[in-house]
Amino acid sequence: MKILVMGPPGAGKGSQSSRIVDDYKMPSISTGQMFRDAFNRGDEIGIEAMRFIKKGELVSDDITNEIVKRRLHEADAEDSFILDGYPRTVNQAKALDEMLDDKGTKLDAVINILSSHDVLFERMEQRRVCKQCGETYHLRFKKPEVDGVCDVCGGELYQRPDDTHESVERRLEIYETKTKPLLDYYSEQGILYSVNGMQPFDKVYADIVEILEDLS
Ligand code: AMP
Repeated sequence: MKILVMGPPGAGKGSQSSRIVDDYKMPSISTGQMFRDAFNRGDEIGIEAMRFIKKGELVSDDITNEIVKRRLHEADAEDSFILDGYPRTVNQAKALDEMLDDKGTKLDAVINILSSHDVLFERMEQRRVCKQCGETYHLRFKKPEVDGVCDVCGGELYQRPDDTHESVERRLEIYETKTKPLLDYYSEQGILYSVNGMQPFDKVYADIVEILEDLS
């Protein structure tokens, strides 16, 4: 299965994707996580990307398409993968279609997680992320067992620099103008499925599983 999880920032794309990864044993391709990892390693591409990420701006299509292209050529992404946070512009969606076409394949489904802006602000300001493995927490709804420490790997938890109020506002504005048009793009291809992301985490996941099971 080749699927894409979409939704505004803070809708739960990352958390839902990581559960799909665990249950379905498919690799996740998260451009945001790849940029953060590259930055933490001190790679040039990560340092360049972080200049935009910090302000809540999108990284250029060229850089983003290039890291996805390289990642799609790795052996574990041959048969199945879950894309999280890519594509985010119509140009990226077209580039992705070309990359997949070159490999003689295509996306099976696009899952869109819907949410209101109030809920998104609350979630992002309370979000903490593990510096080491990328696992996400919520200070009220998904607290780590020990404050500031990741339950999964013991890594240090931090607040993403783009989870500040100002940056979140900018990211939502960009989502509305640049990313939302993708919903029409995929709806026209007949592969768009929407779930209500304001339900409890497990219910959102159950709705996603129902879609995935119908596909297979
Ligand atoms: P995410 O972890 O998906 O919320 O992404 C964090 C940030 O990384 C975004 O706010 C963007 O600045 C950047 N980013 C991630 N994916 C993309 C993409 N597909 N295109 C451009 N910028 C991206």
